[in-house]
Amino acid sequence: MAAVAVPLALAAATAVLKAGHWKLYADRHRIHLTPVARRSCPDCRGTGGWWTGGPFPEMEACGCWAERPELCIRLLPLPAPADEPPF
Ligand SMILES: [Zn+2]
Repeated sequence: MAAVAVPLALAAATAVLKAGHWKLYADRHRIHLTPVARRSCPDCRGTGGWWTGGPFPEMEACGCWAERPELCIRLLPLPAPADEPPF
């Protein structure tokens, strides 16, 4: 399962890095991509959310980042490597 997930994650990460709306964290063990709010977002204007009104105010997460999944790419060698990426 992990051997299948990693190439998929790599392909997804390659795509989203070009978008530039992700926070990249990398060390020797893993690369972690966290979605961040878009500055051009018409709803939150880059703040990532807003406070809802009412007697119990709550922070509402904006869909421009909350609906995107986090990506974690493990860099440790796997026991059964699948297709190696060309880089
Ligand atoms: Zn937004």
